[in-house]
Amino acid sequence: VKPFDPAEYGTRLRKAQSRLEDHGLDHVLVGPGADLRYLTGYDAPALTRLTALLISRDRVGLLLPELEVQRAAAAPIPDAVELRRHRETEDAVGLLAASLGPGSAVGVGDRFWARFLIPLQQQAEDCDWMPAERLMSGLRRVKSASEVARLRAAGRAIDDVHAQVPALLRAGRTEHEVARDIANLITDAGHDEVNFVIVGSGPNGASPHHESSDRRLKIGDAVVVDIGGRVEGYCSDCTRNYVVGQARAAVHDTHAVLKAAQQAAVESVRPGRTASEIDQVARQAITEAGHGERFLHRTGHGIGLDEHEEPYIVAGNDTVLEEGMAFSIEPGIYFEGDFGLRLEDIVVVTSEGVESLNRAPHDLVTADPGNGPPS
Ligand code: ZN
Ligand code: ZN
Ligand code: ZN
Repeated sequence: VKPFDPAEYGTRLRKAQSRLEDHGLDHVLVGPGADLRYLTGYDAPALTRLTALLISRDRVGLLLPELEVQRAAAAPIPDAVELRRHRETEDAVGLLAASLGPGSAVGVGDRFWARFLIPLQQQAEDCDWMPAERLMSGLRRVKSASEVARLRAAGRAIDDVHAQVPALLRAGRTEHEVARDIANLITDAGHDEVNFVIVGSGPNGASPHHESSDRRLKIGDAVVVDIGGRVEGYCSDCTRNYVVGQARAAVHDTHAVLKAAQQAAVESVRPGRTASEIDQVARQAITEAGHGERFLHRTGHGIGLDEHEEPYIVAGNDTVLEEGMAFSIEPGIYFEGDFGLRLEDIVVVTSEGVESLNRAPHDLVTADPGNGPPS
């Protein structure tokens, strides 16, 4: 991956400023988290001490605790951002309130802690408060070339992990044991951190957000493996389905339906389509096969600095897809108490169609059940 051009942060900040008026805002206020990383490259820790980026029409300021100044200096924060440090005994919220100005409209980032926001609202009483989510997601949901490069690298890294999963799925091992091995592989494959590891064997696969448990793998189990981490801040997220030994006909046939639905949805992605239409393609194929009620969730979610962000691929979302949008296509079919299957790729909208960032084979993968638990 090519090094990131720090000038990109300046461009993003100016874009955010230029959109304030359209959103009826005088300021946008964000705390530590993905919005701050997106706008400044500063991965600030979320502390009981206030860190706040305030984007106003004519200036951008970052208020931060004095003890964080050295760490902030190492981040690619553009020179145009005015740094204001607050000392341990200073009233940081009071400083922030004073810079808002009377009667202004303030958009607040969705992870700005209540412990700061509520006193701020009390001190700056005549301001109007609203979520900054619409303005921020409008910026973040279309990825630049350098962001797509990072998502691509994350996709390759998680594909490498899936290639090694079959060797871990031996009858007699617990889901926890398998999940621990996968977590190590996620970092070995080049991720900076592990975000989550789902190993759902047999009936546990039918619960979409099951993580892992003490359940021991049995011959014939279907196993949903949904895993993700971060590469240079950008998330991977990929699901494949495995079977320990020979698959039952029901598992085999359901997987064939799922694979066709997932592929049809991926191939339907192109600029100009809506998020809702993509959801409909996946849902229709599964419904026609008689499993509509068993597809319990939306088809996908946007991905970037956060695992789940805009655009959501869900019925009723009329967001028009644009080049650079990145999201998952992950239909699932769940038989409660028996087994579940989910198939997930991350895709990016290109100028004419779609690029899939996950190349791991989409088939149901047979894992050799081995000779019982490893010694
Ligand atoms: Zn999820
Ligand atoms: Zn996933
Ligand atoms: Zn996902």
